[in-house]
Amino acid sequence: MILTKKTALYSNCILVKGASRSVICDLQLQQMHYIPNSLYELLENHLGKTVEDIKKAYNNKYDDIIDSYFQFLEEKDCVFFTEHPERFPKLNMDWDYPHEISNAIIDYHSKSSYDIINVLNQLDELKCKSIQIRFFSKIEKEKLTSILSYLKEKESIIASVEVYLEVSEWTNKDRLIDIISSYPRVNQCVVHSSTFEDIIDLGNKYLIYTKQKVNSELHCGIISPKYFSINLKTFTESKNYNSCLNRKVSVDKEGLIKNCPSMTNDYGSIKNTTLKKVVESEKFRQIWSIKKDQISICKDCEFRYVCTDCRAYIEDSKDNFSKPIKCGYNPYTNKWEKWSENQLKKVAIENYGLTEII
Ligand code: SF4
Ligand code: SF4
Repeated sequence: MILTKKTALYSNCILVKGASRSVICDLQLQQMHYIPNSLYELLENHLGKTVEDIKKAYNNKYDDIIDSYFQFLEEKDCVFFTEHPERFPKLNMDWDYPHEISNAIIDYHSKSSYDIINVLNQLDELKCKSIQIRFFSKIEKEKLTSILSYLKEKESIIASVEVYLEVSEWTNKDRLIDIISSYPRVNQCVVHSSTFEDIIDLGNKYLIYTKQKVNSELHCGIISPKYFSINLKTFTESKNYNSCLNRKVSVDKEGLIKNCPSMTNDYGSIKNTTLKKVVESEKFRQIWSIKKDQISICKDCEFRYVCTDCRAYIEDSKDNFSKPIKCGYNPYTNKWEKWSENQLKKVAIENYGLTEII
């Protein structure tokens, strides 16, 4: 530690204060470090001073603690010492995207009768880059390959495709590896309702087998540290917009256009209107701007800019700003519990019909 120089945090290390503890999100190394709120306050109020001056600001009562704090920050590569901290500006926390839609969900089941290729065409016109296609029931191999071939042959802007398939006679590993290797835009294929669990790493793509049945949109919306995303894109988008629904459009299994297939509000059928018309409407876009800083409980959570959100399944369906029901984290105690076992959520869980999936 250089005692005569001033302290500075690397600009990729961002402090986030929670109710009972704080974190430093390292957006470059994609790591998160837990820190006590006392260290958060120290850094907020005294960064830019020398360590000696910081100790003096606390009347030299906590010298050992302050030394241990800076030792920790150095070990984690968060802090450096310089004569000129003003030469290291903070990262810009704005978020923007050049097109109206960045991601989409397309749901399909055995009774669906709309044309997926038509939806893909419209998403392409909207310059949507990522899509998730969820087949809730078995489909023929030829149907999947015709959809993927369309994307392969077209000069499409759609860059990443995630497919959910119900297990069937043709979804064995060899066949699926063959299929997804032939289609560069497929980055993940999940086979649900499988008899076994497996994750096959194919370099830049994954084939996943899960015993979980993904037979309806009710399965979506789980909040878990597994899905935390510690990077500049997620962090800045979460600070400014909704981390799930911003720039998203969906077509549910009935062909209804929605913000997400689990929402009750729809904006007409894909058979009678276009995605473009829907996404241009102010009403459709309203939900994009609900950010974590406005959501009850989440606004006190140290994970609020790395966590996904869910606006479809919330603790109080009459309050658009209530916490996602499928989150079991309590930022006041720092404990995770099973969301499905929380008695206070029982009524809401039943109202959403979630009992059939837990
Ligand atoms: S709002 Fe919830 S249910 Fe809808 S896509 Fe997002 S996480 Fe899934
Ligand atoms: S409380 Fe909110 S921000 Fe925190 S983990 Fe749960 S959903 Fe995410």
